[in-house]
Amino acid sequence: METDDRAPRSAPAPFSLPPGPKEEPEPAPAVLVVDDDDATRRLIRMWVERAEVEVIEAENGKSGLELARQHVARLDAIILDVMMPGMDGFAVLNALQEEPSTAEVPVVLLTAHANEEGDVVRGIERGAIDHVAKPFRGPVLLARVRALSEQRRAQRQMRARLQVAETLATKDPLTGLSNRRDFDLQLEKESSYASRHQSPFALLLVDIDHFKSINDLYGHPEGDRVLQFFSEQVSQCLRRSDRAFRVGGEEFALLLRGADRASAVVVAERLERALETNPVFFEGGDSRSVTFSGGVATAEASNAFRIAGMMDRADEALYRAKRTGRARTCVEGDDREQTG
Ligand code: GH3
Ligand code: MG
Ligand code: MG
Repeated sequence: METDDRAPRSAPAPFSLPPGPKEEPEPAPAVLVVDDDDATRRLIRMWVERAEVEVIEAENGKSGLELARQHVARLDAIILDVMMPGMDGFAVLNALQEEPSTAEVPVVLLTAHANEEGDVVRGIERGAIDHVAKPFRGPVLLARVRALSEQRRAQRQMRARLQVAETLATKDPLTGLSNRRDFDLQLEKESSYASRHQSPFALLLVDIDHFKSINDLYGHPEGDRVLQFFSEQVSQCLRRSDRAFRVGGEEFALLLRGADRASAVVVAERLERALETNPVFFEGGDSRSVTFSGGVATAEASNAFRIAGMMDRADEALYRAKRTGRARTCVEGDDREQTG
């Protein structure tokens, strides 16, 4: 344990927990009514509002399409008149189907009696899921809207849950970094990208030195805080195209796109400096600079973009850094110490 009397005794910056999977507020569900006739729109509104959804009105196809795009996330259904001057219902339907997000919103076609059968067939062929004949009967329209709203709500809920599950499966909850499972996938991707495009990338493995002693001296919660602090420092050392992962208890992996060994060493040095200038303060007033040992493996021109065994190669270099005294980074196949 080092105490540094010159170090400021101000309270350490609070380490905020990374945000967990966000609970998005449910958007108010809405139904879009596209019809050129004012009286029809009013009547539809009157019925549809009983399904406890907001009604958005458009008086022509063009503005209907715009409103559909704008409100797509909360649209339970689109009630679409077939016969409209300018852009008619079928043209709107075609345009809605062209975009994946609007294509998902169920469309109920409002078809004039006379031409009903032809309209219905055309509508179904173009992706409408239902139709209501004009003049429509209110209770029928209401029942359809209620059923569609229920479906869309279930769909939205399912999607939100899936997103939470995906986040839980790939993120480390303590640091907010991606986890080992995601790392394995991304390493695979970076490797195949590098060999396909003959472009370099580096894997930098870092392991905090004597981390166990931090737990032992200050307790597990303080150890957790150090892990969060360390993750923040790591993230700040990266460029936009680089990614950091927590791959073990106090072991992190950095995937550096476009980096050869020299640039990977630069990243390691940047992290060393950041940790030197930002000591961690513990309860009781002790402080210490966290150090790490690093290992670099690369796929680059000098090794013919060798991607085989990247993890083992980086691990071997990391082990050498530990063995030769810690607080340094070693590069695969290079017996010289690189940093530290
Ligand atoms: P070395 O310099 O050789 O890497 O030594 P070390 O003490 O850093 O490594 P060692 O593998 O001996 O100990 C790692 C410790 O990290 C042991 C384990 O209890 C602790 N640890 C692992 N995960 C967590 C965690 O999520 N929170 C905390 N507080 N400690 C953890
Ligand atoms: Mg360690
Ligand atoms: Mg370790």
